[in-house]
Amino acid sequence: MSKNPSEPTLEEACVARGMRMTDQRRIIARVIEGASDHPDVEELYRRASAIDPRISLSTVYRTVNLFEEAGLVTKHDFKDGRARFELIPDEHHDHLIDIRSGTVIEFRNEEIEAIQEVIAKRLGYKLVDHRLELYAVPIGDKKA
Ligand SMILES: [Zn+2]
Repeated sequence: MSKNPSEPTLEEACVARGMRMTDQRRIIARVIEGASDHPDVEELYRRASAIDPRISLSTVYRTVNLFEEAGLVTKHDFKDGRARFELIPDEHHDHLIDIRSGTVIEFRNEEIEAIQEVIAKRLGYKLVDHRLELYAVPIGDKKA
């Protein structure tokens, strides 16, 4: 999901948290920030190593985990055996996963947001967070 231009960049947020930002980490941060397709580590590695061929897959792994531990990046499991990453979005959104193509579509639906709060409240809870993933095939897909 696109970022608000007034928000600090991932690189700036890392620096603000006292993280040591090497050139390689800066490149990986920019690659994550520039992605809108929830890439996995292998894909982030492909994109980062195209900018700097010295970047290794293990560096990408370590850096992404560092960003995740710092609460700047979130990990998703879309049930295809690959952990996917995206920046923590300014505004919450949910995901629809096309299980044929692997395409991930972001959406936000106020009725869903509201009903989840109602459900939690009925169960005696105040909702603080949720994740919703819809697994779908295109309408008309004969293999469904
Ligand atoms: Zn997303």
